[in-house]
Amino acid sequence: MLIARIDSAPTSNLNYLGYKQSATLTDAAFKYRDGKLYMAKSKAPLDIRWSRELPSTPSTVTLSKDAAGRYFVSCLCDFEPASQPMSSKMVGIDVGLRDLFITDTGKKYDNPRHSAKYAAKLALLQRRLSKKAQGSKNRAKARLKVARIHAKIADCRSDRLHWLSRKLINENQVVCAESLAVKNMIRNPKLSKAIADASWGEFMRQLEYKGEWAGRSVVRIDRFFPSSKRCHCCGYIYKALPQGAEHWHCPECGTDHDRDVNAAINIRAVGLTVLACGESVNPEPLNAA
Ligand SMILES: [Zn+2]
Repeated sequence: MLIARIDSAPTSNLNYLGYKQSATLTDAAFKYRDGKLYMAKSKAPLDIRWSRELPSTPSTVTLSKDAAGRYFVSCLCDFEPASQPMSSKMVGIDVGLRDLFITDTGKKYDNPRHSAKYAAKLALLQRRLSKKAQGSKNRAKARLKVARIHAKIADCRSDRLHWLSRKLINENQVVCAESLAVKNMIRNPKLSKAIADASWGEFMRQLEYKGEWAGRSVVRIDRFFPSSKRCHCCGYIYKALPQGAEHWHCPECGTDHDRDVNAAINIRAVGLTVLACGESVNPEPLNAA
């Protein structure tokens, strides 16, 4: 039995929230009946657009309002996840500079950067906001418009992360990834912002819970490992690899490497070793393949 958090789509005005930004209710304060949520003492159900059906009666319900003035309902429910059939595929992924990640087969998935699409609109609205008098009603209205654009950008980004994490978990029995902390240590500090932009932490969180639900393994390689500098063919460590180099040539065996693809291949190999040796963060044994 696992606990799932199920969030509603933006929902109509929940005036129960009053002036607060969020409120968490335990089971005395709400009732769940026939797929509908009622506040205690209320006869009419809340008008909620669910993102999906609740698997069980929620133990806790959280009502919240975001900066864009949208209301959300988030429910914690017990549920029995349906494991997906075993797959023989395993993948290593490397965090990229230009890409969100690159797989060991060389597939690149770009960062979910939707900001550009909304940048002009956002700049216009922010300019208008700056001209409104402090504390005025018009200023509050202008601020809400800015918040709505920010919310739209965040939604697009989140949709893409969910789509990609779902795809990786559906297609692979094992997903190996290097931890962000290691990457930050060995690469330059500017990169940490690029990674933050790419929502890498959120992406890993999604991979891990979707993996757990589907009975798939997500292996994080947390220890220091020279994934970029190690030739995956012969094991040679190319110490002089420059920071920004996209390609390199192994002086030992003569292989030409794409930096990120070579790293992903190494991450996959180490991840599978970690899994086989039982040092893994994920205790699930690997039965197939
Ligand atoms: Zn080599």
